[in-house]
Formats: sequence, structure tokens, C-alpha cells
Amino acid sequence: MSSTTPASSSFPAAKRSHAGAGILPNALGAVGNTPLIRLNRIPQSHGIKCNVLVKCEYFNAGGSVKDRIALAMLTDAESRGLLTPGKSVIVEPTSGNTGVGLALACAIKGYRCIIVLPEKMSAEKVTTLKALGAEVVRTPTEAAWDDPRSNIMVARRLARETPDAHILDQYNNPHNPLAHRVTAQEIIDDVVATAASGGAVDKGAAVLTPDASPPHRAMRVEEGVSRLNIVDTSPADTTPSGLVDVLVAGVGTGGTISGIAKRLREQDHNPDLFVLGVDPVGSTLAMPASLNELSEGESSAYKIEGIGYDFDPASLDKNQVSHWLKTRDEESFDYARRLIRQEGLLCGGSSGSAVAGAMRFLQQGGEGWDRFGSQAGKNVVVVLPDSLRNYITKPWLLEGNEGEAHA
Ligand code: PMP
Repeated sequence: MSSTTPASSSFPAAKRSHAGAGILPNALGAVGNTPLIRLNRIPQSHGIKCNVLVKCEYFNAGGSVKDRIALAMLTDAESRGLLTPGKSVIVEPTSGNTGVGLALACAIKGYRCIIVLPEKMSAEKVTTLKALGAEVVRTPTEAAWDDPRSNIMVARRLARETPDAHILDQYNNPHNPLAHRVTAQEIIDDVVATAASGGAVDKGAAVLTPDASPPHRAMRVEEGVSRLNIVDTSPADTTPSGLVDVLVAGVGTGGTISGIAKRLREQDHNPDLFVLGVDPVGSTLAMPASLNELSEGESSAYKIEGIGYDFDPASLDKNQVSHWLKTRDEESFDYARRLIRQEGLLCGGSSGSAVAGAMRFLQQGGEGWDRFGSQAGKNVVVVLPDSLRNYITKPWLLEGNEGEAHA
């Protein structure tokens, strides 16, 4: 990898809206500016009083949070003259979503793209990658990261063997966490705009009146929420403060959690931000390391895709994480199904992990733990990284739904 450490991301800040922003030059213009949506049923079912807001990254053009870093890393390499369209070959080891983001950008910009991903990752991701014209190489899931058969090592070998190949290297590229300054800024802007307007948009079950305009994002941000004719049916004490109090994210490369947390903690927002890192049982990322010990008979294999590693990537700044929680597949899938079924959020499995961690954190007693969940007006932001599109054929998606068909 050949990135230098820049003072700031060379990826331009996302425009504050898509619709209403004029014609976008290509699909990459629809990366970023994702919606922040309030949960209305899941936290309430646990007696949680604070606002739980989800950053819906599956609205990105390629369907995940990783579109942002793919574009940022590619743009940086281009700006440093490292890539030539029609000649350079992008090779990247990934759990799939960075691959889709890169394949999308490569399709538009005219680069050959080789994505190396473990067998565990879904057939849907492979189909999307191939549809975008990427070449896909699969590697054994059980290979440790430094095993010559791992996706990281195979990508390195392919890059050595392929003329004009370039690994952007999400595990070490500073533009991975840096791209999320923009994600954080979007969150700040939305929380501040809603607080300034008295919380009209996200107080409970908002209903559009018949003469209301559609909830047009440009209007919401630039002209104020009151113009939307939204009838608010929830109690007044849910008005959000203008601050993000807690950030919750599942951790893979760590770029998402590190980059968003760093920006939210800056002096002009909230230096006291509490950051909860969610790590699957079987991964070794969590701190203290004793959290990662397996119980007797427990396997280190987990099905959730995109989070957890057996090494600490440089893109993860553990100093940004206040507290870690371990999650299991079953609770992650359960919360993913609830997000879809009860909140209408078409997210993937790791979104369920993040919300499972958030719910446990906000409910548990103990020193400091209950200072958020019990307080109306506090804002807890949870990142939902990808979409159910990646898991359409996975049995977990419809578990428990059998026999519910209506005649
Ligand atoms: N969830 C999914 C589905 C992902 O693909 C990723 C990226 N590996 C993450 C969560 C974690 O994001 P990050 O790599 O920024 O920690």
C-alpha cells in the first residue's frame, strides 16, 4: 500500500442532498448523505427512553457503508497519479462490501477489478460483484489472516503477479477512517437541524397530512422541518438534544467507528461522546482481550459477515472505543429481523449485531451504563452498515416467519 497520511480526506464532503441537488454526474454522486432514522418500537419495547437513531448506510449507491471508503481510497490514489483508467487493476481483499463499492467505482471509471473474499461471504455479494464486472476470487474462511491462503495474502500475491495492479488496502489506508468524517458530519447536521426545529421529524409516529409534500431531504435540512406539515403524535419530552451522546457500531476494519467517533468527539460537538464497539464472539478485536475468550465447547466460527477479525487492523483506533460488547449470531439475526419487520429498515445481519449491542448497553444497570437509556432527549446513534439484499437467500432472514402467510 502506498498511501501517505494526509491532513484531511481528499474525498470531497458529500452534498447535503441528492434529490433537489440537480443532476448527479454518475452513480458515485449517490454515495453518502444517508438518512438518520429514529427507531420507534424496538427500544420502547425494552423501556428505553432515549432516542435511538440509526444511520442507514444501505442507502448508499452500492448498498453499504463501504461505498464511502472505496470512493475515498480510489479518489486519493487517482489524485496522486497512481492509477490509469483502462490500464490499472484494482485488487482488494474484503468481506464483500468494500469490493462492491470498488467494483461500482471501477465500472464507472474504467478499471479492471479483482476482489478476493472468503468463502463465508454470501452468494448475493458475489453475484453483485460479478454483475458489476469484477473478477471474484474465493479463499478458505478458516485461513488465518497471515496464512498464504487467506484473502489478504492471496490478494497480495495476485497484485504481485498482475501487471499494473494496485491494492488500496482498507486495513492500512488512512482514507478508510478519514472518509467517515463526512459520515459524522452528516449525523451532526441532522441531529442539530432536528433539535433546532424542536424535534418535529423524529418525535415518535410522525404522520404526513394529506396535503404534505413528500419528506424532501433538501427542504428538511435547508428550509427547516416545520415546512413538512408533519403531524407529531408523540410526547413532547422526546425532543432530542443537539448532541450525539453515544455512538454504536460493529467493528471490522474499524474505519467506521474510528472515523465517526473522532469527528463527533471534536471540541465543536461532543468531547464526552461514549463509543460502544460491537464485536462478534469468535473475533479477537474487543478489549480487554479476556472478553474474547471462548467458553468450553464454543467455536470461533461466526456467521455474521463484515465484522470481527483475528488481527488488529491499523484502520481501527482502539483509543476511540469507550467500551466493547460481544454479540452472538442468534441475537444479531434476531435484531436484524426485528429492524426489518418492526421498523421497516431493510438492513443486513451486522446491523442486527450493532442494535443488539446497543439494546443491551442501554438496558443494563451498573456504573454509568444507565445514564443514557433512561434519559429522554439523549441521542444514541447506531450504524446500520448494509442491506438485506446481501442476504436474500440466507435462512436467518425469514426464520420465525413460516406459517404467517395470510390466505
Ligand atoms: N458490517 C458490514 C456488513 C461490513 O461489510 C463491514 C465492513 N467490513 C462492517 C460492518 C464494519 O465496518 P468497518 O470495516 O468500517 O469496521
